[in-house]
Amino acid sequence: MYFCPLYSGSSGNALFCQYGNTRLLIDAGKAGRCIDEALAGIGVPPGTLDGILITHEHSDHIHGAGVMARKYHLPLYATQETWRAMAGKIGKIPGDLIRTVQSGKGFWLGEIGVEPFSIPHDAADPVGYRLWGGTLSVSTATDLGAFTQDVFERISGSTLVLLESNHDPDMLRANPNYNAQLKARILGDRGHLSNESCAGALLRLIAGGTRHLILGHLSGENNTPVLARRVSETAMLREGIRPGEDVQLAVALRDQPGGIYMLKVTG
Ligand SMILES: [Zn+2]
Ligand SMILES: [Zn+2]
Repeated sequence: MYFCPLYSGSSGNALFCQYGNTRLLIDAGKAGRCIDEALAGIGVPPGTLDGILITHEHSDHIHGAGVMARKYHLPLYATQETWRAMAGKIGKIPGDLIRTVQSGKGFWLGEIGVEPFSIPHDAADPVGYRLWGGTLSVSTATDLGAFTQDVFERISGSTLVLLESNHDPDMLRANPNYNAQLKARILGDRGHLSNESCAGALLRLIAGGTRHLILGHLSGENNTPVLARRVSETAMLREGIRPGEDVQLAVALRDQPGGIYMLKVTG
């Protein structure tokens, strides 16, 4: 199984996953040509994709979805409420490319088993995805205001998890460019996960067996890759977990492809 966060952050999201001959994207939240470029960087012609899974209708997740679907004839997968909410934002999508998913209802996309699960976020019906390739699984959960027990149960035991580490609450509160309403939205239960909440969640995931962790959807103004990593590493070290030895920890960069992660079955 291959996984590559092409882009992750409030300025655009697109995550690549491959198992066997099946290749897909989770979200297409950059201009189509940017996603084409990033895919070229990992040697994947966009026309060889099998589909795009959409998490929710915010523009940093769907910006290039319509263009890519039409240009390469790629099916788009989203919940019914998300389809409704993104109508008019992504242009007209041919009927044969429209696929509807439902939280809790797994399905096959080629050789990949896909499990959508609800996340608490201020969108119509947002989901995260757990992707199965044989006995391996990759889960992505960004844009969530809280790491709920339900989300934990859905992704616990994943081989790799990309989890949101959006902001440092103090940097956010002190940011003069954000008004009080926006700050409250981000800090709320249906907003975005802070570095501290992410670190706490990672400890639970590690206890559940996850060994590959990627911090994602970092804020450009209210966080830095160094700070996000430090908060998670400090939490791990406090529990006697050695990053880089016991577990692999990476940070998905906002504006450049994050390298390709190959997972191998062990044991
Ligand atoms: Zn987002
Ligand atoms: Zn969002």
